[in-house]
Amino acid sequence: MSRVGIIYGTEVREMVRRLLEAGDSLAGLHPGDRVVIKPNLVVSRRDWRGVNTDPRVVEAIVTVLKDRGVSDIVIGDGSGMGYSATKAFTECGYAAWPQRYGIRLVDLERDRFVDKPVAVPGPFTHLQIAATVLDCDFFIDVPVVKAHSQTRLTCSLKNLKGTMPRSLKTGFHGVDLHRAIAQLASVLRPDLVVADGLQGDLTSETGRTPVAMEMILVGDNPVAVDSVAADILGYRPEAIKHIAHSAATGLGPCDLDRIALEPLNAPTIRRHFTPPPHYTERFPCDIQAEGACCTCLGNVIFALERLKEEGLLAANQTIVAGQRPHTAIRKKNGLTVAVGRCAADWCEAHLRIGACPPTAGLIQRRLAAALGGQAE
Ligand code: SF4
Repeated sequence: MSRVGIIYGTEVREMVRRLLEAGDSLAGLHPGDRVVIKPNLVVSRRDWRGVNTDPRVVEAIVTVLKDRGVSDIVIGDGSGMGYSATKAFTECGYAAWPQRYGIRLVDLERDRFVDKPVAVPGPFTHLQIAATVLDCDFFIDVPVVKAHSQTRLTCSLKNLKGTMPRSLKTGFHGVDLHRAIAQLASVLRPDLVVADGLQGDLTSETGRTPVAMEMILVGDNPVAVDSVAADILGYRPEAIKHIAHSAATGLGPCDLDRIALEPLNAPTIRRHFTPPPHYTERFPCDIQAEGACCTCLGNVIFALERLKEEGLLAANQTIVAGQRPHTAIRKKNGLTVAVGRCAADWCEAHLRIGACPPTAGLIQRRLAAALGGQAE
């Protein structure tokens, strides 16, 4: 049985301390160890809530480690397309921590990368992983429990992507993303997962609509933690493909009967989470986004939500985005819009928005001008 601890509330420091002290989460940790904590720092903008890991969770982990005599602590991540972890450290309030706690902040995109052979089936034979993460003695994965347009749910398994170079992170979206995540999880196994379920965006990976969930999960097996998170959000764990592939390759259980869920208290809010419709079903227009990076697709969805509110979307419009635009089927007499450089470079479209990644504001403005018939 894999064990997953869960605690509910809003007193973050106390919640993390109780979770780490219950069970044997830190049993393998020694004071002389080098510890790497990897939060999820997808965006480096001010409204990071629901997308990035809540820094209070990370700070609480740091204080528990310090209390146990651990002094060599690194917090590292690489941000999403169009963002910077270096900037995210500042936006999320980490900047004073090196002085306050004697820790290091590392933008993993600037790290040295080590080639690791992959033994499980999937699109890659080798993956490059940041040396800082591979060289540590104890690796703590601190994701956010939230939605993702392509994988439906993202938690500890997908959070591992931030340890790779940018080109490879982008490359993951051009192949079978679900199997690629399972391959990554096979070469990089966290010693501990502390999943931030305080507030996650449950409709889009780029956020702006965080939902209060008021929970934190802890476990030593990422497949088990992600399976519990999926179940809480209303998904069957085995229906989340990267969880299913990870379980099938022996990385952990997704069968909830093989996971011991250990709540430390009762939920503070009663909320029944229902999975949102897939992004292709949420808009009157057609969206074809095979191989789109998270930022690209997230920004498209955010812009389309605003345009839908304005009544500008219709069934004869096709939005094409992503690294595989050649797979898109366009309507014969409709309007085709190519969003993002990958699609814009390839597509014969009525409108091309060719940035990489295109911002939500740019997509919204240019689409509104085209669909509303106004000059840009
Ligand atoms: S245009 Fe979009 S899909 Fe293409 S590489 Fe840039 S962010 Fe990714």
